[in-house]
Amino acid sequence: MAYNPFENAQAQYDKVADMIGLEGGVRDLLRSPMKEFHFNIPVKMDDGSVKVFRAFRIKHSDARGPAKGGIRFHPHETVDTVRALATWMTWKTAVVDIPLGGGKGGVICDPREMSPGEQERLCRGYIRQLFSQVGPNIDVPAPDVMTNGQHMVWMMDEFEVLAGGRCPGVITGKPLGMGGSQGRTEATGYGVVYTLRDLLAAEGADIAATSASVQGFGNVAEYAAKLYIELGGRVVCVSCWDHADGTAYTFRKADGCDIGALVAIKDKFGSIDKAKAAALGYEILPGEAWLSQDVDILIPAAMENQITPENFPLISKRVRFIAEGANGPVTPDCDPLINEAGIQLIPDFLCNAGGVTCSYFEQVQCNMNYFWSREEVLEKLSLTMSRAFAAVYVLAKEQGVSLRDAAYMIAIRRVAEAVQLRGWA
Ligand code: GLU
Repeated sequence: MAYNPFENAQAQYDKVADMIGLEGGVRDLLRSPMKEFHFNIPVKMDDGSVKVFRAFRIKHSDARGPAKGGIRFHPHETVDTVRALATWMTWKTAVVDIPLGGGKGGVICDPREMSPGEQERLCRGYIRQLFSQVGPNIDVPAPDVMTNGQHMVWMMDEFEVLAGGRCPGVITGKPLGMGGSQGRTEATGYGVVYTLRDLLAAEGADIAATSASVQGFGNVAEYAAKLYIELGGRVVCVSCWDHADGTAYTFRKADGCDIGALVAIKDKFGSIDKAKAAALGYEILPGEAWLSQDVDILIPAAMENQITPENFPLISKRVRFIAEGANGPVTPDCDPLINEAGIQLIPDFLCNAGGVTCSYFEQVQCNMNYFWSREEVLEKLSLTMSRAFAAVYVLAKEQGVSLRDAAYMIAIRRVAEAVQLRGWA
């Protein structure tokens, strides 16, 4: 079955809108994005040719503050994926209660096949097209799948050239010394583990006695796995996309993966070198093997639509917790199966909200032109995530609903209230 992420996002929204009795104009308004930009970016390639890239920036809602959300570079990007991701950003900023809205961008491209110069021209072209529609008070982009701090600096620089002055608050996820914040690189992965830590504590489970299987080996997966191990957990395997083979592999070490060692043998495409991993004693299994491991916790931290009713039976009966590090990794038709199995799932827009929360801190620091220590940033991040998690957990228990539904109830109510206070509906 082919899943459309935007239909998934709307199905989740409709369900909770019914539960909380949201009706009329407010309900209609929040069901789809407020504004969409679809455009082409011509880029001069190194061989002298011009290639045209299809790009999007979508603002779901700015009722609670300027739109906020990353830009993805991906060969399979679709407008509906960007719509879904923009929508989830609105719920994400609302559930952690930061004064921002939701937006997302995407470019259909494969940066792994582009030179640094081509990538720079693409980034600058993206901002040239959107200049009047981004800005610290309008819409603030950030990194996401296959974009990084260097891409953000090129975008910031292009914006500043056009604006005629310095404006570091236009974009977040910048490198340190260029308006970036301490802790931003690890923030999303750490945030995943802060919520997981709180869930385990609330359920009376000792994190040091648990094991986990991780899907993905990008920024989120790497730092989530690192912090989880630091807190005493054992990561049994990680699955990682192999660019050359066009498929994923699961790298397993039953007595615990060494994340630093695996990062050290990633190639320039972000794929783990199979021969080197084998030499380090890792078993190399098919990509989907991550799902069927005998572990307590699953951390899907790659892409959307990874856990479905079709592959749900592969999940071990031992699994009690799922932490959604990625956006939309579980399809809505799989949620009932997860709930019936008694698995507690921390929903994506709460679980991975650490990135945007730290982006918010980055903006605050840029505005003050005064930068905090890593300890200060991580302490504030941990506090914000814990506060958001506790509110969701308490509501879920009170109402007898899943953590996902409780998180949606809180987020939708907050945004609906902003829409009503502004008199939009
Ligand atoms: N791309 C990240 C996300 O999906 C971070 C967004 C941001 O920092 O604005 O949450």
